[in-house]
Amino acid sequence: MNPSPGPDSCAALRVQVRTLTAEWRDAGRYTPRSDCWLRSFDLEFSKELASRGLIAMTYPEEFGGSGRTNVERLAVTEELLRAGAPVAAHWIGDRQIGPSILRHGSRGLQAEIVPRIAAGEAVFCLGMSEPEAGSDLASVRTTAEPAEGGWRINGHKIWTSQAHLATHIYLLARTDRSGRKHEGLTEFVVDMDADGVSVTPIVDLSGEHHFNEVRFENVLVPAHRVIGEVGGGWRQVVEQLSFERGGAERVLSSYPVLVELLAEAARRADDRELQSLLGSLVARLAVLRRLCFEVARAMDAGEAPVQQAASLKYLGNAFERDVIEALRRTGRCLDAAPDSVFGQALLASPGFGLRGGAAEVLLSLIARQEARS
Ligand SMILES: Cc1cc2nc3c(=O)[nH]c(=O)nc-3n(C[C@H](O)[C@H](O)[C@H](O)COP(=O)(O)OP(=O)(O)OC[C@H]3O[C@@H](n4cnc5c(N)ncnc54)[C@H](O)[C@@H]3O)c2cc1C
Repeated sequence: MNPSPGPDSCAALRVQVRTLTAEWRDAGRYTPRSDCWLRSFDLEFSKELASRGLIAMTYPEEFGGSGRTNVERLAVTEELLRAGAPVAAHWIGDRQIGPSILRHGSRGLQAEIVPRIAAGEAVFCLGMSEPEAGSDLASVRTTAEPAEGGWRINGHKIWTSQAHLATHIYLLARTDRSGRKHEGLTEFVVDMDADGVSVTPIVDLSGEHHFNEVRFENVLVPAHRVIGEVGGGWRQVVEQLSFERGGAERVLSSYPVLVELLAEAARRADDRELQSLLGSLVARLAVLRRLCFEVARAMDAGEAPVQQAASLKYLGNAFERDVIEALRRTGRCLDAAPDSVFGQALLASPGFGLRGGAAEVLLSLIARQEARS
């Protein structure tokens, strides 16, 4: 269990990130944007963060981390999201693949991959969803069959964010078809430049290319690239999803819009309805931040807080959606350019309640866990 950080340590980290992002922004090295953690990709910025110990903060020092707490990491991720900074290159690796390899991976895999995530060199994408397996993730059909020296992969992933820029893909594949569908799944780390891996772009409704399809044709993956237990992938991926769902990005994707709306409300001081709408959003944000800190504290206690993270994502996505509704209320979205923070948030918003698990599926998960407790 990591020790609790002092308040000074979080405050110092916040200042460090604010200073760095202001320097980069003022030098024209990035433009703040909504949904930055998924869509704003700049490897140089990720490496800059890495050089300052602001990636892999919770990882052990022997693997390139800083041995800090998840609460300290949350202070940093909040500031990066508030600044709309270009963090997509390291976000997935840092948030969930490093922690998952540290929990379940062999020592060899930890030594090979984790320091590269910490240095901002290994860029991960997530190979979970397939054309017939989204909410019902256990239905994945991509197969991994034993082969000389490792495993032979065949199959097809979809909606793979930033796969065209990634160096590695986390892959969930079926290694045994004989049991129930939640059995016989295994997690792998695959090089994106391995023979037989191909990436096809999917352009989204805003005209942006961040989605892809990834196909695997007889791709040989060395045996040591299995994460954890062969056939134990389901339990591991459920834990991993708590890292995926339990962060501030499930609340702050549209934060740059909220800031602009607050400025608008200040200009329209006599618009009581707008004042009350934004007052209630700010109060909800305060509650959601408390939930984020609870999840971080549970992670610091060594837990994978599956239910808390699902609750945070469900409530956080509802909040992000309501920020967009407030934007509609001001009429500012009518003439929003697609590349403004308003346009970006508006066009990204249909995905808020889908990515990382559809809202209805999260509700089922929360209800099932509740019934068991
Ligand atoms: C912006 C974005 C980025 C993404 N990035 C990635 C990525 O990098 N890697 C990756 O692997 N995937 C990614 N995804 C895919 C995402 O995980 C899936 O979209 C999600 O799991 C839902 O799966 P689906 O799209 O197949 O929808 P479906 O599973 O078909 O669900 C569609 C709708 O059906 C309903 N539904 C389905 N099942 C149930 C149920 N059991 N109970 C009640 N209602 C239900 C819900 O209303 C749901 O919204 C991304 C998605 C988005 C939008």
